[in-house]
Amino acid sequence: MLSFSTRKVLIVGLGLIGGSLARALRSRHVVEEVVGYDLNRAECELGVTLGVIDRVAESLPAAVAEADLVVLAVPVKVMETVLDQVRPHLRPNTLLSDVGSTKGNIVAAARRQFERLPPGFVPGHPIAGTEKSGVAASDAEMFVRRKVILTPLPESSPEATLALARLWQAVGAEVLQMDVQRHDEVLAATSHLPHLLAFSLVDTLAQEAENTDIFRYAAGGFRDFTRIAASDPTMWHDICFANRDQLLAQIDRFTAGVGRLRAAIAAGDSQSLLGIFTRAKASREHFSRILARSAYSPDLHKHPLRFIVRAAGALSGRAEVPGDRSISHRAIMLAALADGISDIEGFLESEDSLATLQALRDLGVVIEGPHLGMVRVYGVGLHGLRRPAGALYLGGSGTSMRLLAGLLAAQPFDTELYGDDGLMCESMRSVIEPLCRIGADIQGAEDGRPPLRIRGGQTLHGVTAPLPLRSAQVKSALLLAGLYSQEPICMTQQTPTRDHTERMLASFGCAPVDDAGQLCVSAVSSLQAQRLRVPADWSMAANFIVAASITPGSEIRLQGVGVNPTRNGLLAVLTAMGADIQLLECREQGGEPVADLQIRYAPLRGGEFGPEHWTTMRDELPLLLVAAVAASGRTLLRFDAGSRYPSVERMVELLCALGARIERGAEGLAIEGGRLHAGCISCGGDYRVAMAATVAAAIAQGQIEVSACGSVAQVFPEFVEQARRLGIDIYKEEG
Ligand code: NAD
Repeated sequence: MLSFSTRKVLIVGLGLIGGSLARALRSRHVVEEVVGYDLNRAECELGVTLGVIDRVAESLPAAVAEADLVVLAVPVKVMETVLDQVRPHLRPNTLLSDVGSTKGNIVAAARRQFERLPPGFVPGHPIAGTEKSGVAASDAEMFVRRKVILTPLPESSPEATLALARLWQAVGAEVLQMDVQRHDEVLAATSHLPHLLAFSLVDTLAQEAENTDIFRYAAGGFRDFTRIAASDPTMWHDICFANRDQLLAQIDRFTAGVGRLRAAIAAGDSQSLLGIFTRAKASREHFSRILARSAYSPDLHKHPLRFIVRAAGALSGRAEVPGDRSISHRAIMLAALADGISDIEGFLESEDSLATLQALRDLGVVIEGPHLGMVRVYGVGLHGLRRPAGALYLGGSGTSMRLLAGLLAAQPFDTELYGDDGLMCESMRSVIEPLCRIGADIQGAEDGRPPLRIRGGQTLHGVTAPLPLRSAQVKSALLLAGLYSQEPICMTQQTPTRDHTERMLASFGCAPVDDAGQLCVSAVSSLQAQRLRVPADWSMAANFIVAASITPGSEIRLQGVGVNPTRNGLLAVLTAMGADIQLLECREQGGEPVADLQIRYAPLRGGEFGPEHWTTMRDELPLLLVAAVAASGRTLLRFDAGSRYPSVERMVELLCALGARIERGAEGLAIEGGRLHAGCISCGGDYRVAMAATVAAAIAQGQIEVSACGSVAQVFPEFVEQARRLGIDIYKEEG
């Protein structure tokens, strides 16, 4: 096996890129010697004077024969000539690479030059540079945090590729691999076309009679956009011909795009124009976040945020609670499928619901906003979704993935769904299996994990025995698929699950039939666009409800809170414990029951509660533990054997660390009423526990510090501000 080294490096073409690589290698002491060769002797001499290279190669053949690595950094047009000069002097284990901006033509030239491509030949392209040329402009830091694309060929030795990748990493670059054709396609779109447009725009304007004025008054946008028109004309001339076919294809696509803009403006078609602009804006932001690895998953769990809370006086006034997360997803999905324009207020701008929103945009739906919770969705109709350009990225949102799996299973085109590292570990089997039983074709990876590959064009059908349901998300996926099924899709629920999808479907004009626990949905011809307000999230409101209920003298009001009976089990339990919670102005919004809540302090007493309550208050269980500690006497919470509630377990540990008396028995938890003491605790990244722990401060003698609270921002971005508004003594600290 050949072994490759990078100790002695020869750079052929000591200009901007070759010089920068030489400087970077020398300044970091990555290699033993960097030798430079350039047709222009003056560049080489300047290279020595500036310390860019160790020495100048007196003869190219001798320098090639001595080198471990030869890097061609000449213009793409002369690559073949230089390959011809270099070839006879290469040893079998010489590494040979280049930095050319195009790859197909260079590989084709190499194939002409070599009878058999040498194993040490690995083409490359650093995605870095400036509009300057020459060794004087070279920069040792040019490749730091920049991408370098290697395009190894079938003949390239993996050891050679590895040695070259290590060299680029040593100068700070991030190394990627691509095949040659893909490289040229991607670069034509992302680099070659933009340069061409910049040259063309400046040239076009420069030919206008009043060009001095145009340039004098040109604002920042023009300057930013045309900066690259100052690049080296010869180099770009060469690149255009070197990547001719890919570039022509991109010019045609772009011309068609400008044509659509022109037609929309000429016809006064504001919907199309807005569609193009909103999609572009969203895509730009989305791509930036994907590149920054923060799209929908800014690792909130690891974000080092602490809440510091002290018991304060009575709570009073009003607070604003954000829109319901589950309902936000469903509202925009159905609005996208409706005929006409839907206006949605109170949309929660959380990472999860934004992932759904972006996926719908990628499926061709025009969506304006969100802006202060307002979203305008231009529905495309049940059959108007378009094949997305690529796989749909859903960040960490399992809800988006399960619901979209149902919707996309029924579309005529193929799709692929993937997400961040966390979501890629979550099994989607619970949704894949029932959807496949009704005729969907969905392939997951091992154990049903994403990516999910959904084959379109399937005929969905009913099943003889109703599908048993265990979760609201699986039910929702089936309901969405059912909108397209040839036969009704029926399902049964052993225990009731959240019914937001059924209610939202009803408000868009397609109510599923619920017959004694059997739920059936049938295909419809259309959904009608709506104007609706997403109710304030009951689970978030519950934090303030419990805080006011256990703090003497409190009286607060929360407006427009969703009081869906499949969610608000905590209301019945707190009321049974003596809480004073009034539902005022009861009404319906988007098919959901909503009320203004008035909560007054009232002494709570312990009680006994069993599993029949937990299905409608899973998320609020940590808060119930706090209420139980604040109540007089003993509270017994019974749980079914084998059922697991991680948030409850974490909350019990945390309350015990603050002095609560909680016994774990065979039946469940026995909690003695009492006070807590001061302490520093971690919520383990669980936002439910983080918020419940701050509520617990009301009954603590001293300050409570809760760490790892970053994830709260994901569900209730203004939690601390709104809590302070009610009089809770809370502030947050980084770290
Ligand atoms: P440059 O003009 O700064 O340097 C090119 C050097 O090659 C010059 O010094 C020139 O004298 C020398 N040269 C030309 N013909 C030669 C020959 N036959 N033998 C020896 N030397 C010769 O150009 P640059 O910007 O450094 O570009 C070099 C390569 O890097 C090109 O292939 C380009 O596509 C690629 N590249 C450029 C950028 C950029 O932003 N400038 C970015 C990535 C890749």
